[in-house]
Amino acid sequence: MKTPSPNFLNIAIIGGGYAGMSAAVELASRGIPVTVFESAKQLGGRARGVNYNNIQLDNGQHLLLGCYRETLRLIEMVGGNVEQDFLRLPLQLDLHGQFSLKARRLPAPLHLLVALLNAQGLSWSERFKAARFMLTLRNMDFRLPHDMTVSELLALHGQDANLSLKLWEPLCIAALNTPIRKASAQVLLNVLRDSLDRKRADSDMLLPRIDFTALFPQRAAHFVEQHGGQVVLATGVEKIEVHDAHVAISTTDGTHRFSHVICAASPVVAAKLLRPLAALTATVAEIDALEHQPIYTVYVQYPANVRLPRPMLGLHQRTSQWLFDKGQIAGQHGLIASVISAEGIHQELSQNELAQKVIAELRAEFGIADTPHWIKVIAEKRATFCCSPNLSRPSQQTALPRVLLAGDYTAGDYPATLEGAVMSGVRCAKGVIASL
Ligand SMILES: Cc1cc2nc3c(=O)[nH]c(=O)nc-3n(C[C@H](O)[C@H](O)[C@H](O)COP(=O)(O)OP(=O)(O)OC[C@H]3O[C@@H](n4cnc5c(N)ncnc54)[C@H](O)[C@@H]3O)c2cc1C
Repeated sequence: MKTPSPNFLNIAIIGGGYAGMSAAVELASRGIPVTVFESAKQLGGRARGVNYNNIQLDNGQHLLLGCYRETLRLIEMVGGNVEQDFLRLPLQLDLHGQFSLKARRLPAPLHLLVALLNAQGLSWSERFKAARFMLTLRNMDFRLPHDMTVSELLALHGQDANLSLKLWEPLCIAALNTPIRKASAQVLLNVLRDSLDRKRADSDMLLPRIDFTALFPQRAAHFVEQHGGQVVLATGVEKIEVHDAHVAISTTDGTHRFSHVICAASPVVAAKLLRPLAALTATVAEIDALEHQPIYTVYVQYPANVRLPRPMLGLHQRTSQWLFDKGQIAGQHGLIASVISAEGIHQELSQNELAQKVIAELRAEFGIADTPHWIKVIAEKRATFCCSPNLSRPSQQTALPRVLLAGDYTAGDYPATLEGAVMSGVRCAKGVIASL
């Protein structure tokens, strides 16, 4: 291998999930050479399309919010069209007959306050308490003097058990994938601030009509290639060595030289790759300290005439937390996705027991008596990091200027979400550009 010239610039990106592909698009759009190494045969990572029985599913049903500005910007930059790619629903929480809240066509945050005051399934006093809590958070600029759990915050502001069970707990689990007794109140407030307090459209719920690999990573790969970059699939990175003037990346295909590396693999893989780098001991310790939370998605294919009352609705005190009617969302008639987020007793069930429970709930709640054609359970045991208070998350810049970190678990305001992943990738790209 020749010694590279001092102006040599060529960025390796490890991982073709949303974080890695965002970094790649940002760099490639500025004419900076990039190579993405992805160990799997397809892009997308934890938000990827899965083909089952010739039907396109995702490894888990995802939902975006209107405030996911960077994700939506990049989807459009690589050729997507947000209004065509998603079913856009105004904020609505419907726990089938037990609770319902729907945002009105009013400017934020009035749309939410009116929705809270009109919520069904709460007493008048609970509605006032919820609206007063939101106004208090607003007056605090959604900043707590010190972080605490969501349970502690709710108790501090008189949000009683019914309010918590019907409103705050489902919201917290959906946003942070962490139970309220463990979840960071400050991170939940960051999401509430961005989704509820700015523009009304920020609280819109965006349900993808196409699979998650097609939605962004695949388009991003075409964009990168058109801008002179490379995306290499089925090529895992095994080792990173940092030298004075370059970084050596060893893959299943050999060793390659780059000026910088952005490690955008999941936290467990990132820790493994970075562990041999002595300068990054503190970073690896932060990654090792992260705990993880699961998400289960149960897909049930019924005859095509089966549908739910709405494209998306929740269930109160059932195993299924949220149900998605893929017929109404993506034209996949009769296909229902049940999502069960965060840890819980459902983890003690076998996949078949879990699926049967979901089917029994669909029968009890909606009278769906048809026999499913097939069921598919996808268990992501490490879907996200456990978003607990005062969590120390590694920064995108590391102690080694040539090594950067991207991923939903790296430092940022957001919990483990697509937007958090995308923002981390964009930050890495900006970090490389700023260092030039
Ligand atoms: C079931 C489920 C449901 C979810 N629902 C939502 C939701 O509704 N809304 C939301 O915003 N977020 C949701 N999330 C979270 C969201 O999917 C993640 O935050 C996001 O996809 C993380 O992206 P990432 O790029 O940081 O990591 P990853 O997606 O994990 O990407 C890492 C990539 O690195 C690759 N890789 C690993 N090892 C190597 C190696 N040695 N060499 C090269 N490549 C390697 C992997 O194959 C992978 O493609 C959900 C997650 C799951 C699992």
